Amino acid sequence: MLLYLVTVLFLALTSFLEILQAYLQKNCYNIAVMNMKIEKIVVGELKENCYVVINNKNEALVIDPGDEAKRILEFLKPYHVVGILVTHHHFDHIGALEELNSVYSLIENQVSSTDFLFDTIATPGHTDNSVSFAFSELGCVFVGDFIFKDGIGRTDLGGDEMRMKLSLKHFLEQFSDDTVLYPGHGEATTLGRERKFLENWIKM
Ligand SMILES: [Zn+2]
Repeated sequence: MLLYLVTVLFLALTSFLEILQAYLQKNCYNIAVMNMKIEKIVVGELKENCYVVINNKNEALVIDPGDEAKRILEFLKPYHVVGILVTHHHFDHIGALEELNSVYSLIENQVSSTDFLFDTIATPGHTDNSVSFAFSELGCVFVGDFIFKDGIGRTDLGGDEMRMKLSLKHFLEQFSDDTVLYPGHGEATTLGRERKFLENWIKM
């Protein structure tokens, strides 16, 4: 009888600890996400979105510095810039790259802080070597001119329609509907919102 009671108590305690641990982990995770900020600076005639991801140590990661270097540099002043990422090399996405590089001397698409965890995914189609940057912890992907809200990137500017279709197919398989997409132009969206359109486009 005593042994039975001890076992029941032990099991109850273990499951309680498991729940507590899960709760704490979830909270830590949320705080970590909340401590990252994503800022958007719209630059140049083509209104390109230059994004800046900032962590709680004031480290900043710049994505697609397309134009208006002075404005971007001014914005970055309070931060320690740890990386510059480029989704593709069309002029409207790299117009300020050289000037930023001359200030920060960073290697393109490499980051010197372990706080920014992301995967570089090959998403060719808009150009032959377009990439997207997936931040799974933040639940978002910076897609450049791969996918837009209500559209996709042109494939007639050095890209390829078949490769675009393949990239979209892989992307739709790989990411869930609640994934937030930050495109190179226009508003952010979610993969769920775009899924139907993209699936139809692939079939065309
Ligand atoms: Zn482009």
